[in-house]
Amino acid sequence: MKLANRMNRLGTENAFVVLAEVNRLLSQGKDIVSFCIGEPDFDTPENIKKAAIKAIRDGYTHYGPSAGLPELRQEIADYISRTRMIDIKPGEVVITPGGKPIIYHSLHALIEEGDEVIYPNPGFPIYESVINFVGAKPVPAPLLEKKGFSIDTEHLKNIVKKNTKMIIINSPQNPTGGILSESDLEEIASIAKENDLWVLSDEIYSRIIYDGRFRSISSIDGMKERTIILEGFSKTYAMTGWRIGYGVMPAYLAEKVAQLETNCESCTATFTQMAALEAYRGPQNDTEKMVEEFRARRDLVVDGLNDIKGISCLRPGGSFYVFPNVTKVCRNMGFGSSKEFQEYLLYNYGVAVLPRTSFGVKNEGEDQEYIRLSYATSRENIMIGLKKIRDAVKRGR
Ligand code: PLP
Repeated sequence: MKLANRMNRLGTENAFVVLAEVNRLLSQGKDIVSFCIGEPDFDTPENIKKAAIKAIRDGYTHYGPSAGLPELRQEIADYISRTRMIDIKPGEVVITPGGKPIIYHSLHALIEEGDEVIYPNPGFPIYESVINFVGAKPVPAPLLEKKGFSIDTEHLKNIVKKNTKMIIINSPQNPTGGILSESDLEEIASIAKENDLWVLSDEIYSRIIYDGRFRSISSIDGMKERTIILEGFSKTYAMTGWRIGYGVMPAYLAEKVAQLETNCESCTATFTQMAALEAYRGPQNDTEKMVEEFRARRDLVVDGLNDIKGISCLRPGGSFYVFPNVTKVCRNMGFGSSKEFQEYLLYNYGVAVLPRTSFGVKNEGEDQEYIRLSYATSRENIMIGLKKIRDAVKRGR
């Protein structure tokens, strides 16, 4: 039986493919140090777990409104108003099972076939997948290593066309850890306003930031009405498996995104929403401790990688990823691409990383090779993994 043609346009997240391979090797008894997982290795804070258990006991085990429980929508509206310095009402908040559905639903609600959508490259692969799935044209906006992996805003001006509908941005960024500077945000905002574009601002890593405070494009004058903020609890409170996130957007769009949710998921689990309420209302020290630990690991991993001949690694300002340049190593060891280096590390040294191509095809003229390491793993693992990479590079092939 034949699948619908549209399925040919749907991509995937390669991290899950590598993860399955890592699990297969582990089940064979192989010793693998994994740097490929994009989730905190910390446990969900105890107060949040307790709130969920209480909610189940209190009967939060039924359907709820598609857009989310009113008390959580209010709490999120207050949180976003406070942290982004804008005035958000509960009607502008839609709660979803994870932040990811905001990409799927907002593109379905806004993008027509034939429209163009600009997305960061390298970037979270789901953007390109969903742009293709809705029948639009994905247009990559290169991120430049020499700009700390911020968007090349000069290039951005040139790729906006009359049928461009949206720009997707992500800061702090997956896979590079890069942060969009205040001036880049200003420039992107001007381009969006001049060309009447939506901005989908993926802010899922907003709290995992090491220097200065987080800045959202939605705070810039005239941007709130054209911005969809994607946020959630997965990374900030180590709640990836709970599946809870949200979008903040103009109320008329929020209604439509909620209607899409009615058609897909009905609602987000209600006891999970009560746990999320506690996450925002309760003490924040577990998150603060987690971010401090990530900072120490970032330094460990960056210094360790920079000590390896042929690897150079920027010190990212946020998220829990590094994106070292491995061009020299690939050339010296005779690898045609970072994918070959990644496979070599996995099968010969038991180190799992992700290649550049897990985050989109290379940009025109891009001649450098990169890999992504997630340092959401213990310092001990980081030390072991770094030693294995060093050995691999030192010994050569
Ligand atoms: N956006 C980015 C950039 C991510 O890296 C991820 C998860 O890896 C998500 C969104 C999805 O988050 P969630 O697990 O809340 O759906």
